[in-house]
Amino acid sequence: QRTDVRELLEDTIDRFSVQMQQKDIQSATDLDIDVGSVWIDRDHMDQVLDNLVSNSLKYTPDGGKVTLGAYSTEDGMVAITVTDTGIGIPKQDLDRIFERFYRVDKARSRNMGGTGLGLSIAREMVLAHEGHISLESEFGQWTKVTVTLPLHEEGDGVH
Ligand code: ATP
Ligand code: MG
Repeated sequence: QRTDVRELLEDTIDRFSVQMQQKDIQSATDLDIDVGSVWIDRDHMDQVLDNLVSNSLKYTPDGGKVTLGAYSTEDGMVAITVTDTGIGIPKQDLDRIFERFYRVDKARSRNMGGTGLGLSIAREMVLAHEGHISLESEFGQWTKVTVTLPLHEEGDGVH
């Protein structure tokens, strides 16, 4: 479906509003004005964003912040970002983070719940949209995931 990017991001934040309040986590959106809409499978993209935001909530201590952003890239795609002020990921784990069942340091993940599938599922869904996903992090400080999606025009046969 054709989907307004602002609505996509704001609806995502709305789905987590109770959890965010409970953890005293601030949310924000940060959109470039020229970002309009994308042509996506809305259910699947909601699942991608839910996986990313739930990670941010899981791995960000109380009082932190989660920001959903969007901007247009030079090569005509839309980049959507999920950034948190959480515990981050050590450099040596960054290469493997999208593998199924991969979790950083079993000790730190043990109490968190989950199976280590969230990012690999998100990646599958983004690839199915002919997009890509990448993760940057500073251990102990922040994590930022960027999902880049093509801007399909209506009627070009995609979806
Ligand atoms: P599941 O998503 O299946 O509930 P999970 O969250 O552990 O479990 P993934 O979402 O695939 O699995 O993430 C893999 C690992 O990457 C996590 O276990 C965690 O160590 C690390 N990670 C993912 N997102 C973040 C983040 N925002 N901040 C810090 N670490 C993260
Ligand atoms: Mg997860």
